[in-house]
Amino acid sequence: MRLSRYFLPVLKETPAEAQIASHRLMLRAGMIKQATAGIYSWLPMGFKVLRKIENIVHEEQARAGHNPIQMPILQSADLWRESGRYDDYGAEMLRMQDRHGRDLLYTPTAEELVTDIFRSHVGSYRDLPLTLYQIQWKFRDEVRPRFGVMRGREFLMKDGYNFDLTKEDALHAYNRHLVSYLRTYERMGLQAIPMRADSGPIGGDDTHEFLVLADTGESEVFYDSAITDLKFGDREIDYDDHAQCRAVLEEFTSRYARTDETHDEALFNAVPEDRRRVARGIEVGQIFYFGTKYSEPMGATVQGPDGKPVPVHMGSHGIGVSRLVGAIIEASHDERGIIWPEGVTPFHAGIVNLKQGDAEADAACEAIYKSLQALGLEPLYDDRDERAGGKFATMDLIGLPWRITVGPRGLRNGVVELTSRRTGESEEMPPEDAVQRIA
Ligand code: ATP
Ligand code: MG
Ligand code: MG
Ligand code: MG
Repeated sequence: MRLSRYFLPVLKETPAEAQIASHRLMLRAGMIKQATAGIYSWLPMGFKVLRKIENIVHEEQARAGHNPIQMPILQSADLWRESGRYDDYGAEMLRMQDRHGRDLLYTPTAEELVTDIFRSHVGSYRDLPLTLYQIQWKFRDEVRPRFGVMRGREFLMKDGYNFDLTKEDALHAYNRHLVSYLRTYERMGLQAIPMRADSGPIGGDDTHEFLVLADTGESEVFYDSAITDLKFGDREIDYDDHAQCRAVLEEFTSRYARTDETHDEALFNAVPEDRRRVARGIEVGQIFYFGTKYSEPMGATVQGPDGKPVPVHMGSHGIGVSRLVGAIIEASHDERGIIWPEGVTPFHAGIVNLKQGDAEADAACEAIYKSLQALGLEPLYDDRDERAGGKFATMDLIGLPWRITVGPRGLRNGVVELTSRRTGESEEMPPEDAVQRIA
C-alpha cells in the first residue's frame, strides 16, 4: 500500500476524551472513529488489525476441530423466553419491536439460538462431540462504555458452543478450548493468563477468564508470579487427546491466579510471599462449562447408546476480538506510539522515502516495495512529499515492526537504514539485505 492512496487520518492532537493509551493511540493513528457512545466505525488500519485477529482466531478454531457458522445479529425474543433469560438479562440487552409488534433483540451472546440449531438437526449421540462457533457483532448496553473498543456497546466477539453426551466429554471440550486459547493469544503476541472466575449471567460451575496484565485493566487480579514464566510455545497438541489437554490445563491453572470475584485470601497467602502479585488485568476471553442449563429447558436431547433421550452437556467460550485490538496496544506501546507484535501488525514494514521526487530514491523505494511484496509481505510505502520528521513520527505512531529509510545520501554508498520499532536500533545495509532481514 502507498500512503498517498491510503486512508490513514492521523490526528495531530491527543483527543481529550481518551483516558487510556490504547484509546488515544487508536484515535490518533486513525484506526477508529466513534459513531456514538460505545459504537465505532473501523477505518482501514483498524479494520486490517481486526481482520488479522479474526484470522488467527479462525485458524486456531479450525485446528481444534470446531465448525464456523454465522448466526444473525437480530434474534426473536421467543427463544430467550424458553430459557428464561429474556427476563433475567436486564438492561444490558437492547430490545426492539418489528412493524408487526414482535419482540426482537440485538444478540448479547447466543446460547439460545445455537441450542435451537442443535436441537433441530442433531438427534443421536453418534453425531457428538460437536462444537459450533462464530465471530459476530454483539450488543450490550453497558452502563459506562469507555476506553474506546475495550468496553464498547457494540463489539466483535468469537462465541463458541460445545455439545457433548457426557459431563466428562464436555469437560474435555472445556480443556480443549483452554489449550487452544493459550495458543491463540500467544500468536497475537500476548500473555493471557487463565484465572478462575465467576460465571455471571451465562451460569455454570466451571469457568476461567483469560486476563492480560495491564495497569489500565478493569479487573483486580491476584496471582503467583511463577505463572508468568509459562509459555505455550509451538508444542504439538492432539486436540482429541483428553489426557494431553488436561495436562496442559493443569500446567497452566495449578498456580494461584484469580480475579477479585473469586479471590481467596487464605489460599493466596499460601503462595510464597515474594511471588504474590496483586495487579490489574484486561479480560480478553472466558470459557464456561454449564452442563444442561440450556439443553434441559430447551429440549436439546440426543438418543444415547441405550436408545433413551438425554439432554446434552454444553459449555460456551468467548474471545473479545475487538477488545483485543485495544488490549494488544495496552500491552505493547511507548510514548511515541503503538508497537505491533508481528502476528497482528497491519503492515510488515514501512518504507520512508526521505526525498520524494529524487529519481534514485524513488526507484530504490519502488524496488524494495516490490521485493517485499514478492516475498508475500505487505509494505506501507510513505511516498508523500513530506518532511522526514513528519514521516518518522507517523511511522512511530502506527508502530510497524520495521522501518526502511531510503535517501540519496545513503544510496550513494549503496545503503539504506533498517530500524526496529521495538528496540529503536538502526543499521545501515544494502537494500536487498534489509528486505531479507524482514522476511
Ligand atoms: P466484562 O467483564 O468485561 O464486562 P464479560 O465477562 O461480561 O466482560 P463475556 O460474556 O465473558 O464478557 O464475553 C466474552 C468476551 O467478550 C469477554 O471476555 C471480553 O473480552 C469481550 N467483551 C465483553 N463485553 C465487552 C464489551 N462491552 N466491549 C468489548 N468487549 C467485550
Ligand atoms: Mg460484562
Ligand atoms: Mg467479566
Ligand atoms: Mg466474562
